[in-house]
Amino acid sequence: MGRLFIESLNGAKIFKCKFCKVDTASHDDIVSKDFQGRFGRAYLFRNVVNISLGPSEERNLTSGLHTVNDIYCSSCQQILGWRYEKAFEPSQKYKEGMFILEKERMLKDGW
Ligand SMILES: [Zn+2]
Repeated sequence: MGRLFIESLNGAKIFKCKFCKVDTASHDDIVSKDFQGRFGRAYLFRNVVNISLGPSEERNLTSGLHTVNDIYCSSCQQILGWRYEKAFEPSQKYKEGMFILEKERMLKDGW
């Protein structure tokens, strides 16, 4: 293991990991706020930072079958959401490569 590299985001509205407070995502990268996560409401982002990916697995979500990876904070290893690797329904393809972050696991710092 090398030293952990923590990326910082610029902007007024940054979501942070609730547990260790490293930057996770920018409000500007929200695609939709209308998602359901394991812990309640979740947001869809086109980009997130400081995460590591779990193994690919097929999961049946409310919007159909997807191949997803769970995502973990790269600093504290808490689970934060998941990434859509592959969608099988044509109407869901836009989500491929995007990230779900659980609202309950994010911190809004100072806004
Ligand atoms: Zn963390």
